[in-house]
Amino acid sequence: MRQEGVWLRGNLHMHTTRSDGRVSVEEAIARYERAGYDFIAVTDHWVRSEKGTTAGGLLLLSGCEYNIGDTVQQGVYHIVGVGMETAPALERTEKSPQRIIDEINAAGGVAILAHPAWSLNSAEDVARLTGLCGTEIYNTTSAVPPNVRPYSGLFVDQLASLGVLLPCMGADDAHRYVHDAAVCAIMVHAREKSHEAVMEALRAGDFYATMGPSVSLTVEGGEAVVACSPAAQVEFYSDAVWNDSRVTQGEGITTARCRLLPFETFVRAEVVDSEGRRAFSSPVRVK
Ligand SMILES: [Zn+2]
Ligand SMILES: [Zn+2]
Repeated sequence: MRQEGVWLRGNLHMHTTRSDGRVSVEEAIARYERAGYDFIAVTDHWVRSEKGTTAGGLLLLSGCEYNIGDTVQQGVYHIVGVGMETAPALERTEKSPQRIIDEINAAGGVAILAHPAWSLNSAEDVARLTGLCGTEIYNTTSAVPPNVRPYSGLFVDQLASLGVLLPCMGADDAHRYVHDAAVCAIMVHAREKSHEAVMEALRAGDFYATMGPSVSLTVEGGEAVVACSPAAQVEFYSDAVWNDSRVTQGEGITTARCRLLPFETFVRAEVVDSEGRRAFSSPVRVK
């Protein structure tokens, strides 16, 4: 892990009573402040929150979740906008995911594809979109009944197999604040703790997703190399259906290697600690 700059813990997807969340904005913010987060974005459906900073120093990024489509046949797209400086020119009658992404970017924000596994998004459809800053690979609230499909790794790999490598984020999407808050975070590597530096790191893809462990993935000399906090298992994912050095198991693993095959075009990694908590790297292009 690099030493310069700071690592900051954040949650970029959460709801309050301004839409379908169960707690007030004040309670939601206090919950993450107590959990020691450095930055959050309150992202109620079609209600944009403003940028700010709490008395305790928690950075509040402007946020909103723009959701469209009721059926998979129509296409369900939930797109989280973070860091908008102005209100995106969007109405609830909007039908186009591309226009949502474009308006978020035009307003100075970044656009994140939320819970693609939950939405049953297809890699082919998302590959046609431009301007996404990243995708959630894990969405905590989707793991809490009656929701299912919190994990979008299969989608990320299918999309990367089409040549579209989206940086991977973790988010709680907290609604009830019971089992769905302060679970899966994004760790960003920023030059300092400020709104501007967090946005720069998001745009640069300088982050990983985690429930606890740390993960850093590099590619060197035909190998993918992971450095991590002490882990029980390290897993490498790519567009190879079989690779015999893909899983490393043990106790207190802090580094693992995967020999890349000649035809692999990308690789990403997941780290599992002894309590089953995961960290997720973004996919890295290897050719
Ligand atoms: Zn959503
Ligand atoms: Zn949401």
